[in-house]
Amino acid sequence: MTYKEFCSQIENFDGQYNQDINDSTYFSFPIGPILEAESKLTNPAEKSIAYFSMEYGLAPSIYNSFLLNRPMSEKNKFFKHQVFSNYWISDYVFKINIQKMLDIPIYSGGLGVLAGDTVKSIADMGLSVVAFGILWNKGYFKQNFWYKHGQVPEELSWDPHSYPGLIPLKNRVRIKTKQGDLVLRLWKYYVYSYDKKHVVPLVLLDSNLPDNNEHFRKLTDQLYRSDQVSWRIFQRSILGIGGMKAVDDLKLSINCYHLNEGHAAFALVEKYFQLSDKRQMDTEKKKFVYTCHTPVAAGHDRFGINDLQEIFTDDYVEIAKKFGKENPASSEVNLTHICLDNCRHVNAVAQKHGEIMRLQFPAFARRIDAITNGVHAHTWVSESFANLFDQYSRVFGDWRADPQKLQKADRLIRDQDFRRDIFQAHQVNKRNLLNIVRHWKLQENVLTICWARRITGYKRPSLLFHHVEQVLDIARQIGPLQIIIAGKSHPMDTTGASHIQNIMEHIDRLNKDFKNVKVLILENYDTYFGKLLTNSVDIWLNNPLPPFEASGTSGMKAILNGVLQLSTLDGWVVEAERDDIGWIFGYRHQGPEIGNEGDLRLEEDSKALYSALRDAAGLYYRTNKNGAVDIQSPWIDKMIRCVCRSGFFNTHRMVSEYKAKMWS
Ligand SMILES: *Cc1c(COP(=O)(O)O)cnc(C)c1O
Repeated sequence: MTYKEFCSQIENFDGQYNQDINDSTYFSFPIGPILEAESKLTNPAEKSIAYFSMEYGLAPSIYNSFLLNRPMSEKNKFFKHQVFSNYWISDYVFKINIQKMLDIPIYSGGLGVLAGDTVKSIADMGLSVVAFGILWNKGYFKQNFWYKHGQVPEELSWDPHSYPGLIPLKNRVRIKTKQGDLVLRLWKYYVYSYDKKHVVPLVLLDSNLPDNNEHFRKLTDQLYRSDQVSWRIFQRSILGIGGMKAVDDLKLSINCYHLNEGHAAFALVEKYFQLSDKRQMDTEKKKFVYTCHTPVAAGHDRFGINDLQEIFTDDYVEIAKKFGKENPASSEVNLTHICLDNCRHVNAVAQKHGEIMRLQFPAFARRIDAITNGVHAHTWVSESFANLFDQYSRVFGDWRADPQKLQKADRLIRDQDFRRDIFQAHQVNKRNLLNIVRHWKLQENVLTICWARRITGYKRPSLLFHHVEQVLDIARQIGPLQIIIAGKSHPMDTTGASHIQNIMEHIDRLNKDFKNVKVLILENYDTYFGKLLTNSVDIWLNNPLPPFEASGTSGMKAILNGVLQLSTLDGWVVEAERDDIGWIFGYRHQGPEIGNEGDLRLEEDSKALYSALRDAAGLYYRTNKNGAVDIQSPWIDKMIRCVCRSGFFNTHRMVSEYKAKMWS
């Protein structure tokens, strides 16, 4: 593609976007890689891949931030992060003041962050891939904590037109529905490699156009809006059907369609619809691959055929029935079934999850592979750890080009300088955190633990507080504790919201104990805080009920920064069980039954947690005696083993496996 062709497809280029784009730069990044990637994608000789995902957590607030030469709307600067704590010297609630850019708000949590990390590693590896998603005009939601209520969601608003790196195209695609034509605008965002030599174009579909009626305009407002079933069907059609139409409209030549989660399953329906000779579908199906991300039943979409009939024209409904009915008598279409039954390659996101998926879907057991998730090392590594790896480049080599080289960390386990330096690099990160939350006067040499993730039942957000007197005992007998908690719960998940309320009540009751145990719960967990917390606390707590955590990725961000794990045996952690990266506790799932997600085992697992925490705190205070650090401590062995394993749990390795097993 030439520069002229590139500009001519942008809506309102003159007078607006030409301030940020010229023949050498794109929002301050080099434009060459964009033109090259676009040319490859239209070239039939290239074996290009289209990746579909409902959400993308691209984290430009912490990585590869574009510059804007125009004024940016205030709405795109988001820094509302209140903290509720038991530090009674101040008011219970106090705001953290940080100036940062709002992350492009098209993600809710782990699935989106994984998709973002995946496309970043694809760019790093220079592969020819285009990604499809949705431009969520109102993002996910803004979180407010109200004491005695828990979480109160608020609508988020942002301005796509002044969001750095995002451009609207003139292209429109139309989806025919029983309620009239749904028109979609295409936007583009470019995901650059770490060395800025390659990009992955991300195409975002948007229904917020004057061509649409009021109802249609709102379809791309809010991610995972689930108050009406028709809403969910429309949103999935926009991704699957709209995405496939966009492939054609942009004249892309695609060899493989990767459906990241079942949300995009209607892409298969659209493919069949488009074929003039339906017998070709067997060949076309071979181009589809599917990644499943959840063993939790609610994560699989099923729609009543009568609900589909309200929206889809009859020909589409027939195809959806043909592909998605689990049995001839069923009155539902199951999107997971569409993917499992029709895709050439199916993968789970960790080895344990593979086992569970084969139990859940015995009919497809032989087709189900497992490729363990990872995280994008460049996004999640702290500056002090990146410097440390550079300093020891004789061992790590060019770890930026291939983060799998971090597996060599164990060669340094007897290196006295490295042992001292890794602990000091961690203390730098910890001081940075303490500075940001300085209002609460946390201390550098006090054991600091964090639990931060999506707040939902099986992740057991308040396990640590189940017998809170035990936490106080540990603090009194072994040493003080600092605990940080963060996470959003889906606005419709009432039990999630009650967990937040429950945690706030525990915090309230701990107000006279703040000398021994300080507890902070932080509003609006996002990738900025994801990075800050995973690299700076001493222990990363992960306590899902096995086997319901498909993978989990925040712990992978932590080990990359030498942060020890206190975890149940689930998801990715199963693959690191024998690697001495911290403490593993609690219920162990053994097949062949999956078990009951509602049976949370809080009593026995909280006891196991306190016992492991006691050991961890003991070792911490033997290692760090108020700033006097015992360099020989097994704590430092564990830190080094964490870094070593992070050489495996990264998206560079994961994408290499996708390439070898799924995309070829
Ligand atoms: C990494 C990350 C997640 C995913 O964490 P899990 O451990 O998989 O639950 C969720 N939200 C944000 C903001 C993250 O950075």
